[in-house]
Amino acid sequence: MQTILDTIGDTPLLPLRHLGRGLPRPILVKCEHLNPGGSIKDRLAKAIVDDAEARGVLRPGMTLIEATAGNTGVGLALVAATRGYQLVCVMPEKMSVDKRRVLSSLGATVIIAANAPPTSPDNFQNVAKALAAEHGWFSTDQFQNPVNVQVHARTTGAEILRQVGGPIGAFVAGAGTGGTISGVGRALAQAWPAVRVVLADPIGSGLASWVETGEVGPDGSYAVEGIGSSQPPANLHREVIHAAERISDEDSFETARRLVAEEGLLVGGSAGTNVAAALRVAARDDIDGPVVTVLPDSWDRYFSTAWMQAWGRRLHE
Ligand code: PMP
Repeated sequence: MQTILDTIGDTPLLPLRHLGRGLPRPILVKCEHLNPGGSIKDRLAKAIVDDAEARGVLRPGMTLIEATAGNTGVGLALVAATRGYQLVCVMPEKMSVDKRRVLSSLGATVIIAANAPPTSPDNFQNVAKALAAEHGWFSTDQFQNPVNVQVHARTTGAEILRQVGGPIGAFVAGAGTGGTISGVGRALAQAWPAVRVVLADPIGSGLASWVETGEVGPDGSYAVEGIGSSQPPANLHREVIHAAERISDEDSFETARRLVAEEGLLVGGSAGTNVAAALRVAARDDIDGPVVTVLPDSWDRYFSTAWMQAWGRRLHE
């Protein structure tokens, strides 16, 4: 090993021994929170930079810019620190203070954008695009860059196939950029055509309706970070996905709490969303094989959030 980037990926795949008890088939969780930057996004951060360097569009000393809920920013910050780039992250206002602090500590410049819809010029993705054009910075563009989907097929998906070593009943994941579900879903379906690929979507996101009907559902608010949208991103490939499960904030955060307390898995809110959906899928009759999902990030990103602060209050009641 040469740098910390060499420890990205090859994460454990573990059965849920307590939450999955009594189900007709196991739920296997891929521990992406154990990546060096604490999330699944380390994979694409490194892959996008590797690709841009190989194409000659990125040279040492240049500035990277990304619109990020935080995790891709942390991944990119690790890459930037080890390879000598500057990094600018544009984050939506709703993201936790913990994520802002982490990014600043890692030397990134953080710009906070208003919580505006994708059609607004104030939306975090549009702000990042405008800044990239204005300054000639390299836009890593996780929402559109095809390397995001490719790296999940080539690494996350291939690792799951190897780790399971047999048929897979279903793959369940939320979608932020769509990279995980599109890339892993495609790789698993190529090996096991009967696999069901299920989107775990927060109630308030419009993506579940889009998967089911092709029409985006109404835009609502929800507190889970990193997943769901009112507009399907380019990297979310609808043809790979068979069904959707709608999960409330309450269910996501309670399931995350149980993953911590009962399984020792120190994960964030979207892991709760994924596992809450996986529990429903695993209870169905038409699934043949284990249900696999991902634990996208670590709990340390959320210590200041209202939902995690409430865990502390429960302990004192
Ligand atoms: N969970 C969290 C906490 C995330 O930050 C992200 C990425 N935005 C996801 C899940 C979804 O991953 P993807 O972008 O691959 O759809």
